Amino acid sequence: MSTSLPLADRFNRPLGVLRLSLTARCNLACPYCRPDVDDPPGLLTLEQQMRVIRVASRLGTQTLRLTGGEPLLSRRLLPLLEAVAQARRRRSDPMAGLEAVALTSNGVLLSEPMARSLRAAGLDRITISLDAAEGDAAARMAGLQGGAFAGERLVRKVQDGISAARAAGFDPSAGELKLNAVIQRGMNDDQLLPLAGLARQQGVELRLIEFMDVGNRNQWRLDQVLPAAQMVERIHARWPLEPLGRPLGGTAQRWSYCDGAGAIGVIASISEPFCGDCNRLRVTADGQAFTCLFSADGMDLKPVLSSEPCLEQAMRDLWQRRQDRYSEERDPEAGASTHAEMAYLGG
Ligand code: SAM
Ligand code: SF4
Repeated sequence: MSTSLPLADRFNRPLGVLRLSLTARCNLACPYCRPDVDDPPGLLTLEQQMRVIRVASRLGTQTLRLTGGEPLLSRRLLPLLEAVAQARRRRSDPMAGLEAVALTSNGVLLSEPMARSLRAAGLDRITISLDAAEGDAAARMAGLQGGAFAGERLVRKVQDGISAARAAGFDPSAGELKLNAVIQRGMNDDQLLPLAGLARQQGVELRLIEFMDVGNRNQWRLDQVLPAAQMVERIHARWPLEPLGRPLGGTAQRWSYCDGAGAIGVIASISEPFCGDCNRLRVTADGQAFTCLFSADGMDLKPVLSSEPCLEQAMRDLWQRRQDRYSEERDPEAGASTHAEMAYLGG
């Protein structure tokens, strides 16, 4: 359990979520993300990852989210989950305070044995990303060669991944299984209703993400952002919705279907920024800590990773200095600014 005083940044925001990336590599090449082919040198060892998670837990983290690149490509994933699960069972370990361990994945490698192994290793929740329900758009959004045929195969694979996760015990009605989709105007906004239909059919909550200006490779333009309010409007016209609001520290404004078919969420990072209660710390696979998704540089934790007290001091100082509110200050007219890449940061 946490023994130190609650930590807050310059805007009095607590640390609540650690997003730990396991790899910057990916088996897809979504053009809005553009991952690297290779990992950076000096990936954290299991011991170092555990140290980061333990210290973050001591500083108030309640949710650990493992991400990438594509985390299912990482051989480190299962051993890490097992080690975290063991630590959560020890009441004296700060990780016992973790309320949830979650994973974000594109679902391509989410076979039934993999889903069962993840569950058995202590994973509580999975969010699967899929940006289209139809072949052409799915291929375009995932950067696949092979057009509609390749896209349809991807959609089928991801749907199988959703079924595998459900069969392994991830319960969508308890929020343990969700679907994420980035919506880019002119690229896949025609997929809003097909995606909502697919998610309704699968009984999973769909979370629609505005296309964000993360990284320097995706040629982001404001006119490619479909504001979340318009996404909601389009879905509401087909399946009426009622607002549920956005939980404090959460990213998604949630809406429930009036016909009782569950809920959707929209992540309006561009049109309605939520920096005011952002509680997320991101640590890359090579140990760079970022206090904002839109930062250019992180703080290298490696020099302090061999000592837990030094790591704790460094992470505490970093959070106390934090004053990022990039999305609230963004000026799209001011020209491109430099950002770290999304697949490196982990979303
Ligand atoms: N590969 C995994 C996946 O796709 O779920 C995990 C890493 S991915 C970087 C995490 C999330 O970031 C995904 O839901 C992805 O769609 C989202 N993402 C990536 N680039 C984005 C962008 N430019 N704007 C909005 N969301 C983005
Ligand atoms: Fe890979 Fe996820 Fe980036 Fe797509 S969004 S390229 S699946 S890391």
